[in-house]
Formats: sequence, structure tokens, C-alpha cells
Amino acid sequence: MKPRRALSDGDKRFVLTKYGGRCPGLPALAISCGRSFTKFVRPIFDHIGQRSITRDDSRDNYQPLCATCNDIKTNGPGGERRITTAGSDAGIRKKDRRMKRKWRAHRRKMRRKGRF
Ligand SMILES: [Zn+2]
Repeated sequence: MKPRRALSDGDKRFVLTKYGGRCPGLPALAISCGRSFTKFVRPIFDHIGQRSITRDDSRDNYQPLCATCNDIKTNGPGGERRITTAGSDAGIRKKDRRMKRKWRAHRRKMRRKGRF
């Protein structure tokens, strides 16, 4: 989820320092990460508590996540499923779902025509 209120540079520094410049991973999903952020590995500033629930936009409610962890968190709940299939196949799974949807629609159409 995108932060509703952009963090200031100072807030970002605060959050990064708080986490030692590393991705804390997703303890709730038993994922440890520890990837260091650099010029090339940019942190994504993530709401720790879901914003829609906590309504908390303070910098204390942010953590710096790497892209991988952020992807897992964003695509959860159901994160358990995601973890066993690793992060990289999200696109394939999405395509698979799309194809299945198409196929179902196709079958419905065929049934209406009385071919099934
Ligand atoms: Zn990470």
C-alpha cells in the first residue's frame, strides 16, 4: 500500500536509522531478510500496521522493506502460500489465474451454444 502522506526526507532517515539501514524482513511471516539498503537497493517505506486499520501515518508506523519483502507483504494474506512458491513467480501465477478466468468464460459460452 502506498503511504497516503509522503514521508519527509528526515522521516525516511529516521526510519532507516531505526532499522539499521537494513530490511527487517517480515517477522509476522517468519521471514528474516537483513538486506542492506544502498543507492541501488532502495527501501520501500511500508506501513507496519495496515493503514486502513491503524490510521497511523506517523513515522513510527513505518519500516523500510526491500522490494522482495514488500511484494510478499503486499500480496499476502495468504503469505504462507506465497512463501512456499517464492517471490519471483507472482507474474506467472497472475497469468495463470487470468487464463483460467478466460477459459471458464469460454466454457460458459460453449455451454450456452449447447456444445457441452
Ligand atoms: Zn527484505
